[in-house]
Amino acid sequence: MKSFQGIAVSPGIAISQAFVLAAEGVRIPLQYVQGNALDAEVARFKKAVAEAQEEVIASRDSITDAIGRKYGDIFEAHFQILNDPKLILEIESLIREFRHTAEYAVSETMHKYVAIFRGHDNSYLAARGNDILDIEKRLLQLLLGVRRERLRKLDNPIALLASDLTPSETANLDVDIVKGFATEQGGPGGHTAIIAAALGLPAVVGVGPFLNEVVDGDMIIIDGENGEVIAQPDEETLNRYRRKIEAAQSLAIRLSDSLADQEARTHDRIRVQLLANIEFPFEAPQCFQRGADGIGLFRTEFLYLLQGRDRYVSEEDHFHVYKTVAEAVQGRPITIRTYDLGADKVLDSPTSFDPSSEGKNPALGLRSIRLSLRNVDMFRLQLRAILRASVYGKIRIMFPLIATILELRQAKMILADVKDELLEEGIPFHHAIHVGMMLEVPAAILMIERFVKEVDFFSIGTNDLIQYTLAVDRSNRDVNHLFNSEDPAVLYLVKYAISVANNNGVPISLCGQMSSNPLYTMLLLGLGLRQFSCAPASLTEIKRICGLVEIPECERIADAVMEMESARDIRSFLREKFREVLSAARKAESPDSAFDSEYEMR
Ligand code: PEP
Ligand code: MG
Repeated sequence: MKSFQGIAVSPGIAISQAFVLAAEGVRIPLQYVQGNALDAEVARFKKAVAEAQEEVIASRDSITDAIGRKYGDIFEAHFQILNDPKLILEIESLIREFRHTAEYAVSETMHKYVAIFRGHDNSYLAARGNDILDIEKRLLQLLLGVRRERLRKLDNPIALLASDLTPSETANLDVDIVKGFATEQGGPGGHTAIIAAALGLPAVVGVGPFLNEVVDGDMIIIDGENGEVIAQPDEETLNRYRRKIEAAQSLAIRLSDSLADQEARTHDRIRVQLLANIEFPFEAPQCFQRGADGIGLFRTEFLYLLQGRDRYVSEEDHFHVYKTVAEAVQGRPITIRTYDLGADKVLDSPTSFDPSSEGKNPALGLRSIRLSLRNVDMFRLQLRAILRASVYGKIRIMFPLIATILELRQAKMILADVKDELLEEGIPFHHAIHVGMMLEVPAAILMIERFVKEVDFFSIGTNDLIQYTLAVDRSNRDVNHLFNSEDPAVLYLVKYAISVANNNGVPISLCGQMSSNPLYTMLLLGLGLRQFSCAPASLTEIKRICGLVEIPECERIADAVMEMESARDIRSFLREKFREVLSAARKAESPDSAFDSEYEMR
């Protein structure tokens, strides 16, 4: 039995057989092939070589035609290397003699030659190392591409263990097959994590290098509550986890039975609006079974991230989705956020609308509303669809990542223009549709006094706010310890935003992941927040905490927190308060009413 620690990002526990997916571009982990599969592995390698040869010949010919023989010859050199019997034999014998996977054998051999070339004094020869790396990348893409293809064709459940997963790859996982995943890379606030939660997939990210210690078919436990990944668990551990799954299921049923139909109110009867964050339209009805008051954030990026559709997303595609969700929420409010592509939400294959061209610092680059204001046709098309759907429900529009007042005004001007266009065309829409913005860039919160006059509502996006306030990449495991919701600077901004919005009578919610964590519920209530927009799976839990606490006590907690100096102090203080509330509640309840120790453990 081996255990690896990562970051828990999507709750639940998965127990299944491993399917390992390494990635080109990062060092391939040492993996072994079973003895009876060696011929197939060699055949897989040779097929990849043949395909790579075809690709380089095609590149040679097209480059020669386009810019001349001199450039085409670069690919001729690649072809010669791929055709070298000594090299092919060397890789083949690594597979046959050492039972290495084709990927590992290719990577090891190629890196050996890269080192030899690069060690050369002659700069021409040293630069040839890059050609070898190019060939390695091409072969790995072919080999791993086939493996990705296999992932799509599996029909038995698996635990997916990968170097990394993009949000798009995650959105396209078949949840009937993939029971959970763990990745070496990734951080707590990344979009991959958010999509995993939306799909109900237990997930652990940022484990660090561990793929070379597991092989396909190993029994794996992915503990999305505690961030643990266990390979080849012993019988006792397996049984313990099976019991945990049963306990969690029965707790979820008890919570939803007792709370789903009730309004969220604090113990002293203050009404709290509990909204849901959704990624996919299919989640909308589930939110209402869990008692949501509406949708506080509908992330529309899924329209672009799902595969198998034309890369071009049409107005009708948008309209159909928004109308379906508007009808599903049955008169409750639904906040549609315009597309927030870029940074970690990149498309897997390039399009004319390609956020991956955004430079080396994508979180600070052409992402989100900036991309919309640059691709106005595409933005208008989405706005048209949202407006058209607005006659089917209480739709509100929200703009992401607004940093300056001019950006907001520009987005609103485009919206006004789209409204005029629909008016001229005689297409019905809700003229007074509410327009709001995310508060997720510190600049916007610092200037919130100016924004209050120009929007109908705000929503605080702590996932990005933390990243931009603390200069911490939300998807990077190496700085995960710095990504803290309870950092005093972050809380200072959250408190300021809530108080200015409340003083000006502008509704404000919090839709970052912070609102889904019950540890922060008392603090946020104490800071004056009355609208939470949470992950659907957390709704009943947050409702439960609201019902246990009173506002004056929450305000005292918030006052004490705002005096503290470090995230660490704040976290331990909040943990203590959380425990106190739960144990007081348990004492007041009959022993069999609910909330066992499992709940408190979290
Ligand atoms: C946020 O940044 O907190 C947010 C809700 O937006 P996203 O996670 O989609 O960037
Ligand atoms: Mg955001």
